Amino acid sequence: MKLEGSCHCGGVKFQLESAHPYPYMRCYCSICRKTAGGGGYAINLGGDHRTLKVTGRKNIAVYRARMLDEDTGKRTRSSGRRHFCKRCGSALWLWDPQWPDLVHPHASAIDTGLPVPPERTHIMLGSKASWVEVNAKRRDRTFDEYPKESIAKWHRRLGLEDRKKR
Ligand SMILES: [Zn+2]
Repeated sequence: MKLEGSCHCGGVKFQLESAHPYPYMRCYCSICRKTAGGGGYAINLGGDHRTLKVTGRKNIAVYRARMLDEDTGKRTRSSGRRHFCKRCGSALWLWDPQWPDLVHPHASAIDTGLPVPPERTHIMLGSKASWVEVNAKRRDRTFDEYPKESIAKWHRRLGLEDRKKR
């Protein structure tokens, strides 16, 4: 499925191919919440980084989160590159050089109509803010940390993978 996205001010527009476009995974971690999740969580999609086309690159800034390991007290930087518009602040996508073929656009930045997921996965609930209510429905799955099931595997399990464009 071809996805088109943009930031709020229009300074950045992008498009990509996605075999995994269902916005099913809600991440409640502090990074997602603070950078992209006004409602307490953010939703990333799975896309093919090789197909990513961007206009307005000069308006993009990249954030690499600093993280504190509570056991060792060590601070590290996330390998994930969170791309956002430096004019309006819209969160756009995450790209991580550990998985260079993938790109994870925020569903909130996508203008193409996305399919409604038949079930949802709620992740990183161990980092959830106290005021955030998890509206998990009957078939939803919940995890305190990151689940083993990848975005691609979720689509495969539910028979929702878009193979035509691969
Ligand atoms: Zn913008």
